[in-house]
Amino acid sequence: MGEQIIGIDLGTTNSEVAIFEDGQPVVLKHNNSALFPSYVAMDQGGKLLVGEAARNQYPVYPERTVKSVKRLMGSGEKVTMAGREYAPREISAIILKSLKQRAEHYLGAVVTKAVITVPAYFSDVQRLSTKEAGEIAGFAEIKMINEPTAAALAYEGKHDEGKTIMVYDLGGGTFDVSVVRMEDGVIEVIASHGNNRLGGDDFDQMIVEHVYDAIREEHGEFALSPEGAARITRAAEQAKFALSDNPFAEIKEEYLFEQKGVPVHLSLEISRKTYEEMISPLIDETIGAIHTALKSADLTVSDIEEILLVGGSTRTPLVQQYIEDEFSVQPRSEVNPDLCVASGAAIQAGMLSGEDVAAVLVDITPYTFGTSTLHIDDNIMSFTEIYVPLIRKNSPIPVKKSEVFYTLHDNQESVKIKVFQGEESVPEDNIKLGEFVISGLSRVPEGSEIVTTFELDTNGILHVTATEKCTGKSKQISIDNATGRFTEEDMDRAKGKIVQLFGEEDGVTAEQEGKDPARNIPADVQKLLKKAENLLDDAEPEDKEELIELIEEISDAFREKDSDKLAQAVDDLKEIVFYMES
Ligand code: AMP
Repeated sequence: MGEQIIGIDLGTTNSEVAIFEDGQPVVLKHNNSALFPSYVAMDQGGKLLVGEAARNQYPVYPERTVKSVKRLMGSGEKVTMAGREYAPREISAIILKSLKQRAEHYLGAVVTKAVITVPAYFSDVQRLSTKEAGEIAGFAEIKMINEPTAAALAYEGKHDEGKTIMVYDLGGGTFDVSVVRMEDGVIEVIASHGNNRLGGDDFDQMIVEHVYDAIREEHGEFALSPEGAARITRAAEQAKFALSDNPFAEIKEEYLFEQKGVPVHLSLEISRKTYEEMISPLIDETIGAIHTALKSADLTVSDIEEILLVGGSTRTPLVQQYIEDEFSVQPRSEVNPDLCVASGAAIQAGMLSGEDVAAVLVDITPYTFGTSTLHIDDNIMSFTEIYVPLIRKNSPIPVKKSEVFYTLHDNQESVKIKVFQGEESVPEDNIKLGEFVISGLSRVPEGSEIVTTFELDTNGILHVTATEKCTGKSKQISIDNATGRFTEEDMDRAKGKIVQLFGEEDGVTAEQEGKDPARNIPADVQKLLKKAENLLDDAEPEDKEELIELIEEISDAFREKDSDKLAQAVDDLKEIVFYMES
């Protein structure tokens, strides 16, 4: 095998490195994290710090630390780190070299070839500057591809059929949207627009301001040390993560500062609703950019067949909601949005090495799961039951999502939680998987918060929990095999069932053989088998197992022409069918 080519996503906030291995891209990790913060710093002893270590030092020694250097690539501006000037490409080279080392460590070999991604809007000068950074880092051969192209590759791999898609990329500090045409194995960025000063950091900042307001309200004007400010910024980001999956988040920081010699602790709850009100103007801005990109591609919303989500901030539910409202299609988010571009770069590297490539394989749920709630129309004072999806189809599993619901009456004693699978807006049009009641609620006015959590594990088991927020009282049910995935056993049974139903075996169909073995089964046995089949859907698991076994046994007995076995199995099946019908 030739020398390995690596794929690098050189990002504004985070960078990643990936290789192509066993037909799949693998994003390389260090200390269990694939993200390499795009920070470079000099510590007080003059030692170079990169990645996480540099990011940690930033709040305390900002003058010794460089971040977001990607924004300055090709600008001619210089950055200062610990009193010395550097060209942006020199800082980028340090990041690239660190990633190169990560790959070399993993592979146990020297690496000199890389695919490096750049934003679609990068000018020739910016591209050249990136290429030079790669050369400084020690790469002899560099291929550059556009980030949306990499994202499209990660989702689609090899693609033959033509389609027009949109790549919506909202990272930590930048936002890009690209219209991409895929046809005959060629991926072309038709138009691109964005804002390289808009991203998840701004969302964090909104929460930080909210926290400052809350402190001010309680303690008046206050002064924070740089460490204190950094702790609030970190806590804000953590709260943001929590709000992507939960309706509330706690922000707790002890000994934040002292006021008149007394330590001040922070404890604040923020709801998703409040958070969404804060960030909605920012998301509106991204929707505006979508329209600008569409306009320059001479297309409209309805020309876009798919929307791919890229960048960590697209995990924000409101972002997905706005896009879905705009396009009336659910955006695709199954490929990890932080690692998508690096994975695509590795796929391109694999292609350059002549490897056979496919799209990134991810374990996803094929179904949407949700619950129902009453919608009150104040104008006509009527209630309608509406479906509220919590886990959307194509979400990577495991996945856990929570929503808050409210009691309708004062002193309401109980609530019923129904669990559905499906996409229909009328709950009962979906498949009902189960329901449970949580009773003995506290005697409080209407509007008491009930937090409902849906958790789907890797075995396809759905756990649904409802919790009364004011007391923590909760109840749970688990639904087995919610994703309907077949175990090996199920698979064998299903195969047996097909054999029995179609009289088909070893790939040779009855038609090919010119006879229909099912016809040899006496009519009364056929009738019995049909009855048993019909009972399968509603049968308890144990009965179901027995039914399937007997159906298979009858089918075996016919094939083996074993009349004793057949008589016994038919008798047993008659008995269980009789028992179930009565
Ligand atoms: P990227 O530049 O693609 O690595 O994206 C980084 C940004 O994504 C940062 O602002 C993160 O705080 C943000 N991010 C990562 N995970 C989540 C999440 N679960 N919910 C909201 N934002 C997130």
